[in-house]
Amino acid sequence: MSTREQCLELDAQDPLASLRNEFSLPEKLIYLDGNSLGVCPNAALERVHQVVKVEWAEGLVTSWNSAGWRALPERLGNRLASLIGAGENEVVITDTTSTNLYKVLVAALRVQAQRAPERKVILTERNNFPTDIYIAEGLAELLDQGYSVRLVDSPDELQRAVGDDTAVVMITQVNYKTGYLHNMSELTRLCHEKGALTIWDLCHSVGALPIDLKAAGADYAIGCTYKYLNGGPGAPAFVWVSPALRDMTWQPLSGWWGHARQFQMESHYEPAPGISRYLCGTQPMISMAMVECGLDVFHKTSMQALREKSLALTDLFIKQVEARCSSHPLTLITPREHIYRGSHVSFEHPHGYSVIQALIERGVVGDYREPHIMRFGFTPLYSRFVDAWDAAEILGQVLDSGLWRDERFMTRKQVT
Ligand SMILES: *Cc1c(COP(=O)(O)O)cnc(C)c1O
Repeated sequence: MSTREQCLELDAQDPLASLRNEFSLPEKLIYLDGNSLGVCPNAALERVHQVVKVEWAEGLVTSWNSAGWRALPERLGNRLASLIGAGENEVVITDTTSTNLYKVLVAALRVQAQRAPERKVILTERNNFPTDIYIAEGLAELLDQGYSVRLVDSPDELQRAVGDDTAVVMITQVNYKTGYLHNMSELTRLCHEKGALTIWDLCHSVGALPIDLKAAGADYAIGCTYKYLNGGPGAPAFVWVSPALRDMTWQPLSGWWGHARQFQMESHYEPAPGISRYLCGTQPMISMAMVECGLDVFHKTSMQALREKSLALTDLFIKQVEARCSSHPLTLITPREHIYRGSHVSFEHPHGYSVIQALIERGVVGDYREPHIMRFGFTPLYSRFVDAWDAAEILGQVLDSGLWRDERFMTRKQVT
């Protein structure tokens, strides 16, 4: 792609282009951060009014039944299932990714305690998203039975590290920093051969690329709905457990929503059969109602079509940045090979934080991750080819002019 006009032409011919109209996006903004906080579906603007004004203000407590609130975790789980290759009644929307990770990690360790109690290592990547590592560390500390967290520094090292002591391999399918896409089927097969269970964090892959948990033979999966799924800030997350393992153990947060007979109000816990046992307590209904608006858009297209566009967008962006900004110290840390690439592109720059702040002021929203990483998320539902072109051009201008050196771009904000 060599001119801006050709990018406009690609957008004009893009069969997915009209999906952008499903979202409420500030005009002129080039939003490349849908992998951190997704955009607002137009339907959410109406739905929030209905859920607050009609279901809450008027329906009050009857809405748990009449508006279907109580069934929402399961109903929306079914709506999400096809995006991750899960079956009917295998997914619930609930709680946060951090909380759901805790649940499945305990469940996986309990399964291993029955099968192979000598396995005490939770294996993950050092550059995994921090909360994943922290949750595992906290659990090892709490259990105080010789469990430990082992961190590895590359996908190759990860494969070599799976061994006789490994209880669980806990991997984020698309690494939040580098955008590296792990091969779910291969890694799952390897783990199973070595006797380890797998937990897949899908935060940076769900809604970004096709996922087939069942075909891969995965054991557990969790992920959030506020990134590529556009469910809204802090929207509840999801959890899936392989049916073969699901009813073998309790999950540790044995609250009343996961009880077999919630409104019998019994004085002892008995987990519900199926994935409903992964519920804990009362859910944020206003926020959960928004998740459906995000999911609805995905049912107007296919993950395969979205994946093709995503790769075309990230290819274009990489090529343009490398051509336009070649005189600047930028290092691509995202794999060039499609089979290893998610839907965001990361470049290192020694002053990445300030460059991102300057870009945001110029209307290109990416984000910054330690150390020195500038991330640019492409969301095929609404990102355009001309956005990739313009973002590369504006990045070039910011770097050429040294705009980022201005003092106002130096101070760190609370959220980077
Ligand atoms: C975004 C993200 C999370 C977020 O967890 P929360 O509990 O929603 O704060 C967790 N893990 C990964 C890999 C993420 O990318």
